[in-house]
Amino acid sequence: MLPPFCAMLIVAAVLAIILAGRMSKRIVGPLNDIDLDCPLENEVYEELSPLLTRIERQHRQISEQLDELRRRQDEFATVTGSMSEGLILLNDKGFILSIYPAAMRLFGTNAGCAGCDMLAVNRSLEMQRLLSDALAGKRSEEALSLGGGEFQVNASPVLSKGEVRGVCILTFDVTEKQRAEQQRREFSANVSHELKTPLQSIMGSAELIENGLVQPADLGRFAGRIRQESARLVMLIDDIIRLSRLDEGEELPKEDIGLKAVADEVVCALSEEAAKKNVSLTVGGEDLHIMGVRRLVYEIVYNLCENAVKYNVDGGSVRVGVSQGDNETILAVSDTGIGIPPEAQGRVFERFYRVDKSHSKETGGTGLGLSIVKHAAVSCGARIELQSKVGEGTTIKICFPRE
Ligand code: ADP
Repeated sequence: MLPPFCAMLIVAAVLAIILAGRMSKRIVGPLNDIDLDCPLENEVYEELSPLLTRIERQHRQISEQLDELRRRQDEFATVTGSMSEGLILLNDKGFILSIYPAAMRLFGTNAGCAGCDMLAVNRSLEMQRLLSDALAGKRSEEALSLGGGEFQVNASPVLSKGEVRGVCILTFDVTEKQRAEQQRREFSANVSHELKTPLQSIMGSAELIENGLVQPADLGRFAGRIRQESARLVMLIDDIIRLSRLDEGEELPKEDIGLKAVADEVVCALSEEAAKKNVSLTVGGEDLHIMGVRRLVYEIVYNLCENAVKYNVDGGSVRVGVSQGDNETILAVSDTGIGIPPEAQGRVFERFYRVDKSHSKETGGTGLGLSIVKHAAVSCGARIELQSKVGEGTTIKICFPRE
């Protein structure tokens, strides 16, 4: 038999456990039911209010920080998505951490290459050199041919406390720059050559006269050659100046231009030359206007008509027509001249290209007329169409966009 005191103690302990259980359930119950997403909307006993207010404040802070983070992420995605430069981030082993859209397009890969070795995406010698330099802590750059274009690729180490933690690769499209550089080099070489030829002829003739090696009866012929070659030089220099002014791409004011009026002006300026060749020059079509730079439009019409006269046959004709196309205003110069062989049709707009050098020289051509036309047409946003048949004639159309 337990002493009555012990029995009372046991009963009291059991009762205490049962009561404590019930009470803790009543205390914890509302806590478990709290909606932590909206802490202040819960109906709980007053003692919990300060805690819920703090939770609500933290809740707001976290959601503001999340919004900010998302906004920054969106901004970053928009910037990297519209970047024309390719950006790739690598870890300190040369494995891809992130690759952005332009770089994916360039290296012909997709987001799935994240986590792969960069050399699995591009194994070129240049890439190997870039990576080994960057992973050794040195910034380097290489030229790479990718997808038919020329690119400058820069690799910079990402350093932290003097240690390489990763590599940042940036690619820049330099195709256009290299093409322009190449064109500039070719142009300079061509200009020197083109200037040298008439100058040598002038010097040769002058030397012969100076040394008394020309018979008095031939003096006129030699003076004529010197004048002719000098005129050629002046023409060449004029064309070079016109081209370089176009190259500078200066913004000129646009105005309303009547194409027929410009054509009439050009016909008037070329009438003497046309008469010399017995070529008739006419203007026809509709009286259509465009918004453009007058000097450029004149340049186009003048060069086309000049060629149409120059490369025409005795008794031939040239017609300038203005008409309306689909969303375009078309100026066409048609001649009944010698025509351009099919293999040369794609090249006549190149600088200094001439189908027949000797014939062109005879007719006073510099090989720059059609490149001036092309340049001016591009500046006007116009398209060029060429149709030609040897022995029958040529039609060159300039299609100006309708504003
Ligand atoms: P050029 O000053 O020699 O005329 P262009 O650039 O104007 O130079 O023309 C390039 C070449 O295209 C000319 O040398 C000529 O051979 C050819 N060409 C241009 N226009 C015509 C045309 N209307 N008919 C025949 N050939 C032409």
